[in-house]
Amino acid sequence: MADTIDTDYIRRAVEYSDLAALRVAIFQACGDAEIAALGPVAQLSPEDRSRLMERCIELLSTDLASWSLRTPSDTEIYSMLDMVLGKPTEPGDFELRKMVLSFEDFPGFAEWPAPEIKAPEGFHVAIIGGGFNGIATGVQLEQLGIDFTVYERREELGGTWAINRYPDIRVDTLSASYEFSFEKDYQWDEYFARGPAVREYLTHIANKFGVMNHVKHGHDLIEARFNDDTKLWRVTFRLTDGSTVSRDVNAIVSAAGLFANPSLPNFPGIENFGGLVIHPTQWPEGIDLSDKRVAVIGNGSTGVQLLGRVTEMSKHVTMFQRTPQWISPRDKYGQHVEPESRWLINTMPGYWNWCRITSIMHLFDFDKDFLIRDVEYEKTGGQITAKSDFVRNMLLDYIKTETGGRQDLIDKLIPDYAPMVRRPIVDNGWYRALTRDNVELVTEDIVRFTDTGMETADGVHHDLDVVISATGYDIVKYLWPAEYFGRNGVNLHEKWEVESPMAYVGMMVPGFPNLFTLYGPNSQPVSGGVALPAWYQMWAGFVARCLIGIIEQGKQTVEVTDEAFRDYNEKLVEESQKLIMVTEEASAKKNYYVQNGRMQVNAPWETCDYYRMTSYPDPEAIVYE
Ligand SMILES: Cc1cc2nc3c(=O)[nH]c(=O)nc-3n(C[C@H](O)[C@H](O)[C@H](O)COP(=O)(O)OP(=O)(O)OC[C@H]3O[C@@H](n4cnc5c(N)ncnc54)[C@H](O)[C@@H]3O)c2cc1C
Repeated sequence: MADTIDTDYIRRAVEYSDLAALRVAIFQACGDAEIAALGPVAQLSPEDRSRLMERCIELLSTDLASWSLRTPSDTEIYSMLDMVLGKPTEPGDFELRKMVLSFEDFPGFAEWPAPEIKAPEGFHVAIIGGGFNGIATGVQLEQLGIDFTVYERREELGGTWAINRYPDIRVDTLSASYEFSFEKDYQWDEYFARGPAVREYLTHIANKFGVMNHVKHGHDLIEARFNDDTKLWRVTFRLTDGSTVSRDVNAIVSAAGLFANPSLPNFPGIENFGGLVIHPTQWPEGIDLSDKRVAVIGNGSTGVQLLGRVTEMSKHVTMFQRTPQWISPRDKYGQHVEPESRWLINTMPGYWNWCRITSIMHLFDFDKDFLIRDVEYEKTGGQITAKSDFVRNMLLDYIKTETGGRQDLIDKLIPDYAPMVRRPIVDNGWYRALTRDNVELVTEDIVRFTDTGMETADGVHHDLDVVISATGYDIVKYLWPAEYFGRNGVNLHEKWEVESPMAYVGMMVPGFPNLFTLYGPNSQPVSGGVALPAWYQMWAGFVARCLIGIIEQGKQTVEVTDEAFRDYNEKLVEESQKLIMVTEEASAKKNYYVQNGRMQVNAPWETCDYYRMTSYPDPEAIVYE
């Protein structure tokens, strides 16, 4: 490193640091009593915070070279979690938090129960999709030496992050948590990585952990058919040249993504529009908008992320908003990781691990304190819960500040539902973009397209050259359009058509043995506290444990029982009815988390409960034959 690491440098590193994580990492390294006494960080007075920072600077300056990473005992982890969270960790939460902390090499992954057990010759797994989930499962199977192929219809890996190339695409969860915890020293350039950086990261993972050699690009799964006699799945792919190829495999892991099927606008007259309609998944590289009148439809995560940059690139932008959203800022969003912070991550033992815990503790995350009405609190005049009101007021102030107090905008921007009913949206300068001279916010309904633009319900015609349709995805089309035929030729899509998409722990459906649907129906617990890549590792581990079960027991199939599947989904519906996001009024807001009145993407479980359900296959629910 070119920089001189003197006290000023260390001081800056501490100032930029995640102080709660740094405090506990230093305590873990040296057990300093003064550090232990100064916490929890969020509750410190300014004076005590300064004292803590000075003590950190002092210890880093004198003792850092003598510290090394040591895996703490469970008892130590318990007490350090108390230090960082400011409250005791319940035994039920402990394993989950330990997994997030990632002192092990491959958290969440399965291992063979005995060294002599191995996959039999010819045993092969087809992984469909080369995004986060496909790669995680590939790494897990590679670790076990179970043969597999990742079939990806595109010519590159990355999934979401290869498909979406719209302006300013980046993650809206901290990269410190939106990464795999088996790669322990990836050098992110920005706190919230941009799309190309995530794509590069996934390629790096696939190369480093031995997945790349197993990837077949240009393979689009069109059909998977279970053979009741051989107990094998026949998978058929369409290749880039239009031909098809089939092979038999023992198991299928569908990692085809929740956002695989763009939802395209279908307004009347769209076929007559003389301009260009762009879905963000099909962003034309190098497009010049400088003399164009552009519309952006949709203010979900993508519409909000791209508006600022699009307004800079275009002559004029009309932003069409159907439903106002709660849009919140994030600390360090858009910022590079400072060299001093990078130095701290690279040299302070345990700091990276503790940042993994603190990075998922932010205010704007799902939490049942937002989602279940507190009747007593409401009797005092509040709405939903104290936390919900606190965040609502904070975000109302944010809207006022960001729009420069423009009442004409503010009136249109305040949602009439509670925060966290829909996916929290991160502000990428959206409100500010609305105040630009070349931007107009339209909240009237779009009635139809014309040859030259769009007409809204108030009869106004908007002249347009380009329409960016940030209208999201067809979420309920899990695994679609590939066809899956299970036992007795039952078609999975037809089954789901009748009873809506359902799975056991998001991954298994009775009648479809040895098929695992990653990021399948109801896979995201509403209690938060874990970033998605940690689930990807857990799901990969779950799949592997099921496969190990088949191999260890000398069986051919693993399957969830009908009874366990029904029980699970009945409980899921019952629990979800308690959440305000499923109430009629909230789901009427076109909330993609709720489809046809049923919670679809999320699961109502406490995070630690879902962790338990997915860490080990429940022998009561799963049968091997
Ligand atoms: C714009 C955008 C931003 C996001 N930002 C965040 C974020 O900041 N934080 C966060 O936690 N989550 C975010 N998400 C969610 C994100 O999709 C997931 O975190 C993650 O990328 C999902 O990975 P996946 O492997 O399940 O699916 P995907 O990334 O969608 O990958 C699926 C892959 O399967 C392939 N495939 C599909 N069908 C077939 C088939 N029949 N045959 C062969 N291949 C097939 C696809 O081509 C694709 O490559 C975002 C999603 C979008 C769309």
